[in-house]
Amino acid sequence: MAVIAVVEDEQAIARLISLHLQSAGYEPKLYETGDEFLRSLRGDVPDLVLLDWMLPGENDGIAVLKALRANEKTRAVPVIMLTAKAEELDRILGLEVGADDYLTKPFYFREMVSRVRAHLRRREWEKDDPTVRRHGKITIYLNEHRVTVDGKNLALSPKEYDILSKLMEKPSWVMTREQLLTAIWGADFDGEARTVDMHMTNLRRKLDEAGAKDYIQTVRAVGYKMCTL
Ligand code: CA
Repeated sequence: MAVIAVVEDEQAIARLISLHLQSAGYEPKLYETGDEFLRSLRGDVPDLVLLDWMLPGENDGIAVLKALRANEKTRAVPVIMLTAKAEELDRILGLEVGADDYLTKPFYFREMVSRVRAHLRRREWEKDDPTVRRHGKITIYLNEHRVTVDGKNLALSPKEYDILSKLMEKPSWVMTREQLLTAIWGADFDGEARTVDMHMTNLRRKLDEAGAKDYIQTVRAVGYKMCTL
């Protein structure tokens, strides 16, 4: 049974989250503060974390997220941030240490459970075969340098392939143009962020024509990410 850490100081919400996770077949573990949760990581690591942004004590949600990403043992654990305000969401999106997903309060518990399920399933796939990345209709076979949409091969230029592959490494993380430039063109490349946009336009058009419309989303003033499924 997958263990879900729920780090949330509002007890009423934490209890409701917990009930819904239990009825979906998961084992919730509740933590009221970030400090308490971080201490628990000396033992077993949960399969997924639901993490509130505003937490009392030394470590708020962002500090906990950074601590998770900085630790090899917990780096890949999916994290869904819970936020109360749109401006918190903006700040989360702007962070380089991305959360895997976000829910803005108040949210539907059914929606929460389906996001949890989707992230756990993706983790399973990644564990099964790290050379295959899937996101909805799109699959990348890294060993073969091949992309399919709905099972049909899609011809991409090398840079388009690199961009898609990079975005699909962590589908809900926002990548800035600068991060994409550095990752794909290298730190020494002295072209402009516009270079990314040009390849992005072509990549999107090809995905669009293949039936994967709007799979790459623009996060205004930040960068790009894969769509939420
Ligand atoms: Ca809170």
